[in-house]
Amino acid sequence: MTEKTYDLFVIGAGSGGARAARIASRHGANVGLAEMAEFGGTCVNAGCVPKKLMVYASEFSRAFKDSKNYGWIVGETKFDWNTLIANKDKDIKRINNILETNMGKTSVDIFKSHARFIDNHTIEVSGQTIKADKILIATGGKPALPSIPGKEHLKTSDNMFHLPAMPSRIVIIGGGYIAVEFANIFSGLGADVTLLHRGDLLLRGFDNDLREMLGNEIIKHPNIDLRLETEIQNVEKEGETYIVHTNKGEQIKCDLILSATGRAPNIDGLGLENTNIQTEENGRIKINDDYQTDEPHIYAVGDVCNRHNLTPVAIKEGHALSDRLIGSMLDRKVDYEFIATAVFSHPPIGTVGLSEQQARDAGHDIDIYKSNFKPMKNTVSGRDERALTKLVVDKKTDRVLGFHMIGDSAPEIIQLAATLLKKKITKEELDETIAVHPTAAEEFVTMREAVS
Ligand code: NDP
Repeated sequence: MTEKTYDLFVIGAGSGGARAARIASRHGANVGLAEMAEFGGTCVNAGCVPKKLMVYASEFSRAFKDSKNYGWIVGETKFDWNTLIANKDKDIKRINNILETNMGKTSVDIFKSHARFIDNHTIEVSGQTIKADKILIATGGKPALPSIPGKEHLKTSDNMFHLPAMPSRIVIIGGGYIAVEFANIFSGLGADVTLLHRGDLLLRGFDNDLREMLGNEIIKHPNIDLRLETEIQNVEKEGETYIVHTNKGEQIKCDLILSATGRAPNIDGLGLENTNIQTEENGRIKINDDYQTDEPHIYAVGDVCNRHNLTPVAIKEGHALSDRLIGSMLDRKVDYEFIATAVFSHPPIGTVGLSEQQARDAGHDIDIYKSNFKPMKNTVSGRDERALTKLVVDKKTDRVLGFHMIGDSAPEIIQLAATLLKKKITKEELDETIAVHPTAAEEFVTMREAVS
């Protein structure tokens, strides 16, 4: 075996790993990078990017319907799954190529292969032995399946992007981001969706008003059957049909079951057992505030750790780590306060800061401002869909603690709200801002009376 040495060796070219490798190389380090699949990780290949393209595809059926009262006569419409998947694949390939080309322009040595620890200081990749001064694990996550009889019949989000045909009857298990987004995608594309969630409201952790409103809006979709407080007990297959048995004695027949019940760290085959690296109870790699594992020269960032499992967070972590470790910019830290997030449902959600409940639990004396309204577009289209904006405000300081919105453009609007929160905006300052009219965003600067 040949042996190579690096200042930094990165395992995984997803959001966190690729950024860390590129920045370390820019700081002059001798960097190696191992990636066994396409560049871009989950986000580019089986997550945010292809999902968003499918969200766009699913929105056309709504647009066709909404256009009628605006005077459009839309002829017969038909959705072709293969066209969507082929064009989606073309675009993902384009992004993979850009990422790989950009990495190729750096001095990073790329190993398109699986990497495995032989011991704390040695990695085996592509039949070569690697020694590195510092090592970064950025291998991301993978879907976790519930332990039920028949779990071998469950599909995960990884499979959704390459199905040979669109199933016409789908059961989705879970009430988190992925379950909600795919329920909306497939219903928009014309499938019949049954969404089974064990809780009494979708999206645990979000503000309760958003959760309630999402549930109310989702059941207005003619082809989504939302069943709350429902657990899946087992799954059988009869011919090409799956039968889902629930705790309520129901049997639901379908062509595909999507399990969207959370994610686990992607550490299989990494050889962690050959190192001093420890894992948390949920299996994620244990790190300190400096992303250092129990083996001080080995670091980990992104979804393989127990932090915020979001692409932009992994990117920030990888960047900050290389700035600190290689660029000697010792003050580079990731600020985890007020991370905005979006759920690409119909209607979509954007949220940042404390929910009403979180603010109360943290001991704040708060005012709540809410506007529940029919978006202007829906008045003429006749679509029975409402929107909600909500502010959580600290009474004592007048500081806004949380911006929450469900309604069209919420994911776009919430990005700037995150900056306002970080800049400690007060309710008075929002009130002083002249509205952009007519928009949904103007609700955030025109809510005058606290509702509680
Ligand atoms: P989430 O953690 O968001 O949701 C998991 C859901 O599955 C919860 O509703 C949970 O219920 C339920 N669940 C967990 N275990 C079981 C079980 N054994 N049986 C039945 N239900 C179960 O995970 P997702 O898989 O939806 O997404 C993974 C992560 O990916 C997200 O947390 C997010 O970080 C990221 N993501 C972000 C997106 C975005 O930014 N738009 C989009 C997609 C993913 P309960 O609430 O009761 O625990």
